[in-house]
Formats: sequence, structure tokens, C-alpha cells
Amino acid sequence: MAALKIPHLAAIAFLAAGAGASADELSAGVSRIKITPPMPFQLSGYASRTNLATDVRTDLWAKAVALRDPDGARAVIVTTDLIGLPKEISEDVAARAIAKHGLSRSQVIFNSSHTHSGPMVRPNLPNLLQFTDGQATRLDQYARELAGRLASVIDGALADITPARVAIAHDTADFAANRREPTPNGFKLGVNPSGPVDHDVPVLTIRAPDGRLRAVLFAYACHNTTLTGTWNMIDGDYAGAAQRQIESAHPGCTALFMMLCGGDQNPNPRNTIELAEQHGLTLAASVERGLAGPSRPVRAPIRSGHRLIRLEFAPHTREQFVKELEDKIVSRQRRARLMLAAYDRGQPVRDVPYPVQAIRFAGDLCLLGLGGEVVVDYALRSKREFPAENLIVAGYCNDVMCYIPTVRILREGGYEPCDSMVYYGQPGPFAESVEEMIFDTIHQVMREVGAAAAK
Ligand SMILES: [Zn+2]
Repeated sequence: MAALKIPHLAAIAFLAAGAGASADELSAGVSRIKITPPMPFQLSGYASRTNLATDVRTDLWAKAVALRDPDGARAVIVTTDLIGLPKEISEDVAARAIAKHGLSRSQVIFNSSHTHSGPMVRPNLPNLLQFTDGQATRLDQYARELAGRLASVIDGALADITPARVAIAHDTADFAANRREPTPNGFKLGVNPSGPVDHDVPVLTIRAPDGRLRAVLFAYACHNTTLTGTWNMIDGDYAGAAQRQIESAHPGCTALFMMLCGGDQNPNPRNTIELAEQHGLTLAASVERGLAGPSRPVRAPIRSGHRLIRLEFAPHTREQFVKELEDKIVSRQRRARLMLAAYDRGQPVRDVPYPVQAIRFAGDLCLLGLGGEVVVDYALRSKREFPAENLIVAGYCNDVMCYIPTVRILREGGYEPCDSMVYYGQPGPFAESVEEMIFDTIHQVMREVGAAAAK
């Protein structure tokens, strides 16, 4: 009988090798689920758009990629065609994944494409529009169903894990323009050709051992605002168009879009559905070049870290909001009432929770995920401070509580650091500590995952 054992063990070893189980190879799973809201529905993103949308031009999706290393460490990346997932939803879904699958919080990350032609996702942008009780109930019902679908898409990706070949490439696309235009009266939303941009297009590919393309996760730092406030149909904007183009060119492949630090970046030109499609094709062409060109294997081990800090707002007083009650802009009156109610409870809003996350794959790739509408300077500075890391720096991760400016942008003023805070129901601009607090935390989380900072 002993003679039979040798070929048997050899067969197992052979199968294990054939299954891609060598020490540094990853396994991967992919999943997708439709998250289009029921019509008619209130879209988010523009305060001027108060009529419900009645039509779906293209469906919206939540998609997930799950990665696992030979030691069992996992990472699940969830992407959504949504304006911004609030922490109330992403933390609920993360808690379910932790309880059901034994993941740690740092092993699951949520990103929002920031399409402005998607549904209101309560309680994101709580002061953008006002709703009757009946409307709010319907919006909250969608938010609850959305949480269930996001939990399902994570289940699906984990259940789909099989041996894989994972690789990363980079290309570029140049339709993102810095939108902070300087004028004699301060910065306005426009086009600033000399402002900072980041045109990097990371392309993460997941193939079966036979080379078949199972998924491609690509990313870009630019608002999904080709479609403006005059548009009122469900659509994924340029990111939706790019995902559809890639999926139709590669049947059976799931294309996932991740929004990077595009807080101060708009597509240029913009304003029509034709331009949304055109930018989508431009981005899809960048992804195709990434697929065809040289790539770098992404290997085990997977290490992940997650921290929650509190970012301080600039000092404010009760009197300031008493005065704001008289403002002619209705959303400012509403913000004043919110803030006065907080003062009356004895809990004026002084700070906001802020998540920083990193997922690192050996020295091959590191995904740094920041909450909020992060301006592009954070990506550029992170790349300078971690020059040896192959970095993807994503904003709009885990929570979208407001814009995240740098000190420079805080001092310049304008929409992102100041005016937008009204729609987010925040008291006002951040204190100037915001940038260093975030970078201190980035360095802590990057150290935890083994990333090397510049000497
Ligand atoms: Zn935005």
C-alpha cells in the first residue's frame, strides 16, 4: 500500500501548483449587482435640480473584487456608481462582512464614482435639498436596500475566489482639468489650465490562470460631472461609459471604476451626454493601452491598515449662525438651524470623523484610500512622500462627509473649502491642521502595511 501513497501525494502537490498556490500568488473573486433606484427618484449632486428623475439612461452598479493571499489575508474592494456612500451605509455593510466572513475592517474598502446622475444616498449631502417626510421615507428605503446589495456583492466576490493572475499597469488620460479658476474676486468653479492635475490611469487586471480576463479595475482623478444640473436621468457619466465600453470589448469581464483624488477636477469640456460618452471612450482607450502594454505582477502578501481620526473645523460661534439665519440663501438658513440646534444640545460641531486606509500587495502595489472629496494635491504629495511605492491614491473612500482641502486651498477659499460645506451640513471650513493631520495618519497607516516613506 505504501507504494501507492507516493503518486497520490505527488498528485496533490501537482494539483496545488496547478491551482496557483505558490507562495506569492493571489486568488481573486469578482461580483456585481445592480443598484439603480426605482423610478421616479431624486438625483443627487446639484442643488438646482429639484424635480424627480423619471428615466434610466444606463443602469448603475456596485461591483467588488476580492483578493486572497496564500496565508488567507484578504482584501475586498467595492466600487459604486454613486455620488458618495456615507459612513452610515459603508460601516453597516463593513460590520456585516466582518461578522459573516471574519474580515477585519481594514480588509474591505468602499469607493464612490461620484456620479452626479445617480440617486440621493441619504444621509450623504444632508443639506443639499429638502424633503417631505414621504420623500425622505422613500430615500431611506433605497439606502437600506442599497446596504443589503453591497453586503451581497461582497458575499459574491468572496464566494467567487479562485486562482488568479493579478497585475498592475498605468496609462494616462488628459480630460481632467483643474476647476479652481482664479479671478479678481477669488476662486470660482471654472477651468484653471495651470492648476495641478493627476492624469494617471492605474489599470489592475485579474485574469484566470489560462489568461482569460475576469476583471479590470481602473481609476481616475476627475469628478463625474460631465452631465450638469440640466440633466435629470440616471447615468454613470464618463465612468459608467468607460465601464460599459470595456465590458463590451471583453465579454465576461467585469470593469470596475475607482474615483481618485478628483475633488478639484472636472471633465473638460463638459455639459452634454455626447461628451460623457466621449470621455468614457477616452478613458476606456487608456485602459486598453494598459491591458496591452507592459504590466507588473501583483503578489502576496496582502497587508492592510485602517484608522479613524477626527478633523477639526475652524473655530465658530453661536452668533455667527444666528446671523446666518437671515441669509438670503435658503440652504444657509437651513445650515444655521442645524448648527444652532447642535449648540442648543450643548454639542456644537467642532470636528468630523475621517477614515484613512491602506491595502498593500508586497512591494508591487499599494492602495491608499482616503475619505471625502479629496483634492488632487493629496495624491501628488503622497506620491512624493512614498516614491518607492506603486501607489493608487483614492479619495471618496468609506465616507464622503465633505471636501478635503489642503492648507493652500483653505487659504485660497472658494467652493471646495468653504461654500460646499453648507450642502454637507458642516459648520464651515476646516482648521489649517487638516492637511498635516491627514498626512500624519497616512504615514502611520502606511507604516502598518510595510510601505517605505522617502528618506
Ligand atoms: Zn464633488
